[in-house]
Amino acid sequence: MREFYERISVDDALTIILKKAKSLEVELPFDMCQGMVLSEDVISSVYLPPFDRSAMDGYAIRGEKSFGASQANPVRFNIIGESKIGEFPVACVGDRDFEAVRIATGAPLPEGCDAVMMVEYTKETDHKTVEIFSSVTPGKNVSTAGEDVRTGDLILKKGRVLKPHDIGILAAIGISQIKVLKRPDVAIISTGDELIEVGSAPPGKIIDVNSYTISEMTGPVGTPHRKKIVKDDPDKLKGAIKECLSYDLIIVSGGTSVGGKDYLPVVVDEMGDILFHGVSMRPGQPSGFGVIEGTPVFMLPGFPVATMVAFEILVRPFIQKSAGLIVNSPYPRICATLKRKIASEIGRRDFVRIKLEEEEDGTTYVDPITSSGSGIISSMVKSDGFLIVSESMEGIEVGEMVEVNLYQ
Ligand code: AMP
Ligand code: MG
Repeated sequence: MREFYERISVDDALTIILKKAKSLEVELPFDMCQGMVLSEDVISSVYLPPFDRSAMDGYAIRGEKSFGASQANPVRFNIIGESKIGEFPVACVGDRDFEAVRIATGAPLPEGCDAVMMVEYTKETDHKTVEIFSSVTPGKNVSTAGEDVRTGDLILKKGRVLKPHDIGILAAIGISQIKVLKRPDVAIISTGDELIEVGSAPPGKIIDVNSYTISEMTGPVGTPHRKKIVKDDPDKLKGAIKECLSYDLIIVSGGTSVGGKDYLPVVVDEMGDILFHGVSMRPGQPSGFGVIEGTPVFMLPGFPVATMVAFEILVRPFIQKSAGLIVNSPYPRICATLKRKIASEIGRRDFVRIKLEEEEDGTTYVDPITSSGSGIISSMVKSDGFLIVSESMEGIEVGEMVEVNLYQ
């Protein structure tokens, strides 16, 4: 039986992994970039609004002409035209006469006007005349050109993680292509003679779960590409990996431990370099990492829970860093009291699934799910999150306050 090459700590594994995470700049349509990291400053070459426009429905006038107007003492204006949304106004208001232009919200302010009287304070006596019952100061109810954005303004700074409203402002200033750090393309391969695609499993067969969980976990930070299941056959594994070398990252699950059919580490070793194989963590101990012709390859254990934990701890940080994102846990954390003792081992980091329980007295307890192994996927589904027992602890006693990571 082959031994693990060497079992290293989670932190050492992460150091090795993160050194290999490189980001790549790509130019993409702006509306594909939500959640990605901008790799250039975006500077506006336009004014927003592009022209002075009305903020109200009403009449565009020279504000000073309305001074003194009141309910008892309306001021009459001649209606000389209309400004409609999406059309440039033809009317031009002179400074001597009392002239008004009918105007809609968002329509361009006619030349010569500086304010808009709200329709509520007016009454058209006929189509040619309007009475105004209140006064407006110049500038009132007008959005001036460039009030929002001006030419030369720094709109979005390099390094920003793009949010929905950023995509909106890019649309508003007419920028259709932007430079961002690439979301890594991740090839996902499941391997095992017993595995079959989703459907009903014939006797002795197991439905592939890992390529789905890995895809879903990759989704928010990288672009997953599920590949066909590969048999426990070194040549087939080699062929499948070779086909994926153009991806930014390859994740293979299954066949990583020391059983007779566990060819993955041998294959990776033959095709490239293994940087580690075996991590002092539970579950996920038979995880490994290598590089083949410059492409990083993660080897994850086949047991579904172990795969997910190994992804969480080792792969997500790699993808986050490659995408230019801050490497951090996406989980909210809370502190609560441990309901049952957890046993562990010095030198090993344990990821323990937990359930939260609220007692009648209002205290929240953390109940560790320690009875099921890493093949029991329902243990994950039943859990509310997980807690970490660090390498320096032999376990955690009942009643201690623990910090737990919660699934959202
Ligand atoms: P292995 O790491 O190949 O020794 O697999 C360990 C266990 O995980 C075995 O019981 C496999 O059947 C199971 N397993 C491996 N790969 C998968 C997969 N993609 N989906 C579900 N179970 C798997
Ligand atoms: Mg296997």
